[in-house]
Amino acid sequence: MIPLYSLNIKELKEWFDRQGEKPFRLSQLLQWILKQNINDFNEMTNLNKLLRKKLSDSFILQRPFFEETYFSKDGTGKGVVKLYDNSIIETALIPDIDRVTVCVSTQVGCKFGCEFCASGKIKFVRNLTTLEIVEQVNLWKRKGFNITNVVMMGVGEPLDNYDNVVSAYELLKDPSFFGFGTRKITISTVGLISELEKLTKNYTKIKIAISLHSAIQEKREKIVPIAKKYTLVKIKKWIQKNHLKSSITLQYIVIPRFNSGKDDLDALIKFCKDLPRVRVNLIPYNTIYKDREEPDEKLIKSIADYLYREGVWVSVRKSRGRDINAACGQLLAR
Ligand code: SAH
Repeated sequence: MIPLYSLNIKELKEWFDRQGEKPFRLSQLLQWILKQNINDFNEMTNLNKLLRKKLSDSFILQRPFFEETYFSKDGTGKGVVKLYDNSIIETALIPDIDRVTVCVSTQVGCKFGCEFCASGKIKFVRNLTTLEIVEQVNLWKRKGFNITNVVMMGVGEPLDNYDNVVSAYELLKDPSFFGFGTRKITISTVGLISELEKLTKNYTKIKIAISLHSAIQEKREKIVPIAKKYTLVKIKKWIQKNHLKSSITLQYIVIPRFNSGKDDLDALIKFCKDLPRVRVNLIPYNTIYKDREEPDEKLIKSIADYLYREGVWVSVRKSRGRDINAACGQLLAR
């Protein structure tokens, strides 16, 4: 018996193919699981009896579940999710005035080891399957939240799990499944250019958030090891080619005394020159092991003002859920 959630979409398609079943049967199965929340194959009445028996004989329908949930004073939620193999991931719920966003994880652990991020400190174990990615949205829905936006900014590097993330993106967009608009789903990446190329070849209007954190090559390398391979020059080239057909945000964690001096900001302004449609999102650094200090509001505001005056389109991410370790970079920090 195989856990159904351990298979990716390609493997599921192959299984249906081997049974001599048409591809739309898989779609029907996924409807029962993801939309109707049915856990028993025998209740899936539009599948014929033989297929239901084969499914029951082959798979266990054990879903990822909340082992624990925490809620912050500011309304942010954090869910500790246990998977079929007992791996643990986390997902966050971020309610705001006009939206409710779910932040999903895409991998168990992360390979990229960015200095400031808790996820990078845990060993990479495996990719999440498509079903495991989208089920995180369902877990919050089942708690009664009306989810409007999804960001792939939890544990892991989405584009390092390309196929499963793309299938998850498809299901999230599909009106017969989740039906989120393209503008409501954001994929965050440390800047894996080859995968970004593939992605923008297949999709337009996709929302991408690139973790830049410094516009000075040597400095970026210090905190984001993969920056040696995917340099600022390569990132800028990719943006220039794609900024008119996708929505691109540059994420910039403000780390006091590291990337928030005048030289740093001038390098960022230079990077953004001639990219008027690209927005810089300032993220206050959230401490994970009390190592570096967090910026105060005054510093963030002065940086935002300076960038704005110089013609950069800038926004500030509110830091939410710090008290329950649910803020950016804090997932799985314990
Ligand atoms: N691997 C993806 C998704 C990771 S998390 C990526 O690199 O984009 C999403 C955002 O949170 C990224 O911009 C990441 O750099 C940021 N982040 C990570 N650790 C953080 C921390 N300690 N404080 C604030 N933001 C952090």
